[in-house]
Amino acid sequence: MTWWAAEAEYNGSFEFTPRALRARMGHAPGTATQRLNFEVDQGPARIHRVNDNGGDDFLFQKISVGDIWIVDQAFQRALADLPADRQRAIRGPQYDASAAPLTRALASIASTDVLVAGIKRAPVGVTLNPAMPEARAAWYSFGFLVRRAAAVVLDVAESELDVGIQPIMDMRTPFAPPSARIFISDSLENGAGYSTYLGEPAEFERLLRFMLGQTGTNSALFHDFLINNPHEHECSSSCHRCLRDYGNMAYHPLLDWRLALDMVRLALDPAAAIDLTQPYWSTLVQRTAPAYFQGLNYSATTLAGLPAGFDAGAGEVLILIHPLWDPDQTNFRPEVASAVARAEARGWRWKLRTVFHAVRFPYE
Ligand SMILES: [Zn+2]
Repeated sequence: MTWWAAEAEYNGSFEFTPRALRARMGHAPGTATQRLNFEVDQGPARIHRVNDNGGDDFLFQKISVGDIWIVDQAFQRALADLPADRQRAIRGPQYDASAAPLTRALASIASTDVLVAGIKRAPVGVTLNPAMPEARAAWYSFGFLVRRAAAVVLDVAESELDVGIQPIMDMRTPFAPPSARIFISDSLENGAGYSTYLGEPAEFERLLRFMLGQTGTNSALFHDFLINNPHEHECSSSCHRCLRDYGNMAYHPLLDWRLALDMVRLALDPAAAIDLTQPYWSTLVQRTAPAYFQGLNYSATTLAGLPAGFDAGAGEVLILIHPLWDPDQTNFRPEVASAVARAEARGWRWKLRTVFHAVRFPYE
């Protein structure tokens, strides 16, 4: 498997039914450059954009005269957009009842510039496996934050760049856990070269540092806006001020600016602290955990330094963890391992819940 070969789910900003559009990146040659804790590659690639009508596909019917196939729903919609007098002058299509309708999705293939970026190593106890909803959320959030920063740095509209993620199995490293990469492409055919430019390792590093307020005009503004009040206080996952726009509507429930910043820090430094002591996580936990435990009839406590809810009657404890911490016992964080050990020593049953889950599903 080459660096580019994995199938990718793709989403960008499109004016027409953004929920329905998915694209896949075709094969392209490429050799990733490793730098700090990220790897990045760029170049021209073929992007396959698929419109499957929100998963329903389109129903084409043949008209009675000639070999022409029409989606009646689209015809009716176009008709409804015309002024009333013109509507009356148009006769609807006569369909050939003897021809069986065809169910199809629509696709377009475009060549454009793409940058692909991944994270080389996750710390012990952290998982970036996109099969986990929290890690998938982190990858998409990372992608959309990179796009927002790129739009600011390049002074272009976000709609000029499309974002997707590409799940990967790294066959070069035996038994490496599944991970993913983001890809960003110029949305116009034979694009303007933005992705190629940003995909240069030094430029990509600069973009990452921009998001952390470390370099460039407006960099501090960009970062401080996210982590300071009022945004930090008001935005427990994502909002239109940080990561959401019309074009990424399908991903709104997943998007999370805190996870995006975690990914940026991790891309720059394999030893970055991916835990709840980060100020933007600890304030969220302080605000959310007490009400969360109360709503579930647990009394709030801590276990090995982690926030936990305890149900004395049931002898059960619920331990709150960072969204990217691996729930797999073979890859526990030391904090999780000792919290679990303490619970077990007292004969309690234990459950792990991520803060991501607690914020989104306060009664589960
Ligand atoms: Zn926000």
